[in-house]
Amino acid sequence: MSTAESSKPVNFIHQIVEKDLQQGTHDGRVVTRFPPEPNGYLHIGHAKSICLNFGTAEKYQGACNLRFDDTNPEKESQEYIDSIIRDVNWLGYQWQGEVRYTSDYFQQLHDWAVYLIEQGKAYVCDLSPEQAKEYRGNFTTPGRNSPFRDRSVEENLALFARMKNGEFAEGSCSLRAKIDMQSPNMNLRDPMIYRIMHTRHHQTGDQWCIYPMYDFAHGQSDAIEGVTHSICTLEFEDHRPLYEWFIENLPVPCAPKQYEFSRLELNYTITSKRRLKQLVDEAHVAGWDDPRMPTISGLRRRGYTPAALREFCDRVGVTRSNGVVDMGMLEAAIRDDLDKTAPRAMCVVRPIKVTLTNYPADQQEWFELPNHPKDETMGQRQVPFSANLLIEEEDFAEEPPRKWKRLAPGEAVRLRGAYVITCNEVIKDAEGNVVELKCSYDPDTKGSNPEGYKPNGVIHWVCAQHSVPCEVREYDRLFTVENPAGDKERDFLECINPDSLVVLNNSRCEIGLQGAAVESRFQFERTGYFAVDADSTAEKLVFNRTVTLRDSWK
Ligand code: ATP
Ligand code: MG
Repeated sequence: MSTAESSKPVNFIHQIVEKDLQQGTHDGRVVTRFPPEPNGYLHIGHAKSICLNFGTAEKYQGACNLRFDDTNPEKESQEYIDSIIRDVNWLGYQWQGEVRYTSDYFQQLHDWAVYLIEQGKAYVCDLSPEQAKEYRGNFTTPGRNSPFRDRSVEENLALFARMKNGEFAEGSCSLRAKIDMQSPNMNLRDPMIYRIMHTRHHQTGDQWCIYPMYDFAHGQSDAIEGVTHSICTLEFEDHRPLYEWFIENLPVPCAPKQYEFSRLELNYTITSKRRLKQLVDEAHVAGWDDPRMPTISGLRRRGYTPAALREFCDRVGVTRSNGVVDMGMLEAAIRDDLDKTAPRAMCVVRPIKVTLTNYPADQQEWFELPNHPKDETMGQRQVPFSANLLIEEEDFAEEPPRKWKRLAPGEAVRLRGAYVITCNEVIKDAEGNVVELKCSYDPDTKGSNPEGYKPNGVIHWVCAQHSVPCEVREYDRLFTVENPAGDKERDFLECINPDSLVVLNNSRCEIGLQGAAVESRFQFERTGYFAVDADSTAEKLVFNRTVTLRDSWK
């Protein structure tokens, strides 16, 4: 086991696995699986499931399968399959063997359905969906037996074959397990196990027009793959007796066990695939990988690292109690990672011109700045300096408040890694906007403090000519309320934060960033962490703000 995995704290799933290993259950094997349905992109909640399933296998020298739970072809697509494979890989996990599909097992599942019919434990039911619902009862009313429940084995076999051969319309009949219509557990009231769906499947084409239900497919697929610990989220707790019923009543090769843990919920965002899809389909965001989306591909584009997402999942932990995790925790995880790993650079996001009146107009010099203040191994970079500079608009105040730490008329600041400058004159346009600051520099302040006066603080800057034009996309939380989906009166779309994306077109960054690779990450000093977006061109770099330097969210 890798030291990283072995040193992690043990959660309740790990305790179960350790006990099973001690007692020799499952012959000492540990096999888990991550079973996404390819009906959308993965999100941060899936990351928790991925870390738990792959992490548990890694910790106990077991294996984890990647299996697409593809029993509903109407909502599934190859695009989703490809994105999920990419995301799991990017998170740093490798599955055992090939990628698997529940559809690989359609023939076996069909044969097991036939087996149940032969055992008198399944029947073809002709109730319409509405009637079936009515017969099912509810939490307070027991169900009633379907009038088709006592069909003979022969009749059921013949009808099921005709279902399979495409002789019936969708919804006209279904195959149901014969369990107990009076069970207090609704899942055991003769659940549907096969339905008719005349839909082409992305893996099996037109081979099937009947498809197994999730509950009939899941445990048996686990058994086929030799899964030992089938870990899922708490809403499946009530399905566990059904999971076990199929395992006990079918000649499956082994007996996997289901365990449930609580879903990850994050505030200020949503982790419902249906709603995420709506955001994409209705173009409220730029796509599944819009950097405001809580999808893995969105977080990746935003600048999150696999290490930060895994660390976040570790910090959240694995329990059986539901709770909402603060978005600040996710942001803290990426800050902690990038603080250590991101090289520093300067970028002026909202520039204002600074002209040094006493610096020779044709002169240029280079300053050497460390790439990281605490990590010498990251080396140095060269930053050009001249009489024409740019500083951040918000680093100048014509009428500074008390204790102002930046530039103001008649006052001095240090330009990071360079000289101390003093502002002597403020130039405005016809509308009264400050457009340029005439300053003087103090040549004696290269690497030493000025004599007789004290600069206000340190600000960042770039050389006006020798810098790279860039676009900066400042992202904020996608929703303005903690629980966007929790308000019955208000649609979640009404809670979209109108300021969740601010695009700055005039920014300029250090010359050294020219040609920076897509997805490379930087700390722009005093501003935040940024990642190069794939929209970058040879003419213009595009940066996504991953997160601000400090938690400034109110
Ligand atoms: P659907 O409604 O489409 O089934 P889903 O969120 O359950 O949506 P799946 O693709 O079925 O999506 O999920 C794959 C795995 O990820 C499942 O084991 C599921 O329990 C787990 N998972 C999904 N959402 C979360 C979440 N928010 N926290 C933890 N695990 C999750
Ligand atoms: Mg699901």
